[in-house]
Amino acid sequence: MMLLSGRKASKALKETLKNKIVKASEKYSKSPSLAVILVGDNPASLSYIKGKKKACELVGIDYKLYHLKEDVSQFELETLIVELNQDEQIDAMILQLPIPKHLDENYLIDLISREKDADGFHVVNQGYLYQHKKTIYPATPKGIIGLLDFYQINVEGMNATIIGRSNIVGFPVARMLMDRGATITVCHSKTKDLKSHTINADIIVVATGRPHILTKEMVKSGVIVVDVGINRVDGKLIGDVDFDEVSKIASMITPVPGGVGPMTIYGLLENTFELYLEHQESKIKSF
Ligand code: NAD
Repeated sequence: MMLLSGRKASKALKETLKNKIVKASEKYSKSPSLAVILVGDNPASLSYIKGKKKACELVGIDYKLYHLKEDVSQFELETLIVELNQDEQIDAMILQLPIPKHLDENYLIDLISREKDADGFHVVNQGYLYQHKKTIYPATPKGIIGLLDFYQINVEGMNATIIGRSNIVGFPVARMLMDRGATITVCHSKTKDLKSHTINADIIVVATGRPHILTKEMVKSGVIVVDVGINRVDGKLIGDVDFDEVSKIASMITPVPGGVGPMTIYGLLENTFELYLEHQESKIKSF
C-alpha cells in the first residue's frame, strides 16, 4: 500500500508556486493578496485559517484577516464584501464556512465577485466547471486532482465512485474525474446499498462527514481511496474511511490528517495566484 501524502505533495508544489510568485511579484511590482473573512470563533475554523495564513506566508501571498463578531449583521457583512470586491489591493477572498445561521450563506457567497472567488464557489465559476470551461475550481476538488497528478495516477477508464454530492466537494470532484475519463457513480444519503456501488470501483472518493462509512468489506483489492472527511472522535481527528482496515486492501490511500487537507490549502493558494495573474494581465490590457 502506498500512502498518498498531501503533506508531501503540497510541500513540493508550494515550493514551485513560491518561485512563480517571486517572479510575478517582481514583474508586476505587487504580491498576490488574499482576504479571509471569519465570523465568530468556531475552533475548527480558527485552526483552518491558521493553516491558510501559514501557507500564504510561505509562498509570498499577502494574507489579510477580517475577523467579525458572531452577531455581525447581514448588512455589515455584505458591506465588507462589496468593499473588498472594489479594493484593487485584494486579488482574492474567502468567506470561511460555516457562518452563523442568521446569515444568508448562499447570497453572501454569490456576492463575492467572480474575479475574487478564491474558493471557486461562485455560481458562475461553478457553471463554467459544469460546462468544462476554464474556471476557478473549488479548492478541495482541485486539491484532490492535484494530489492524483502528483502521484501520476491516470484515472482514464477507471470506475470512480464518489460518496457525497455537495456543491463544494462531491459533485465538482465527480465532474472533474469524469472530465479526466473516469466512469462516475455518485452516491449520497439516499443511496440504497452503498456497497454495491463501491465494491467494483477502481477509485473511491469519500466526502460525507460520517466516520467509518467506508469499510474493508466494501472495497476490492487494489482500490485507490481518497478520504476527504474530517471528523473529531474522542478528541482525535479521523476521516470517513476505516483507515486501519481499508489500507490493508487498498493500493493507495490518503491519510487523515495529512491527506486532502493540505491539498485543499494548496488549491486555495493556486486559485489566489491565478486570480492575481488575471488582474495583473487585465490591468496591462486596459492601459
Ligand atoms: P456536506 O454535509 O455538504 O455533504 C455530505 C454529503 O454526504 C451529502 O451529499 C450527503 O448526501 C452525503 N451523505 C451523508 N450521509 C451519507 C450516507 N450515509 N451514505 C452516503 N452518502 C451520505 O459535507 P461536505 O462539505 O461535502 O464535506 C464532507 C466532509 O468532508 C466533511 O467531513 C467535511 O468536514 C470534509 N471536508 C474536508 C475538506 C478537507 O480539506 N479535507 C474540505 C471540505 C470538506
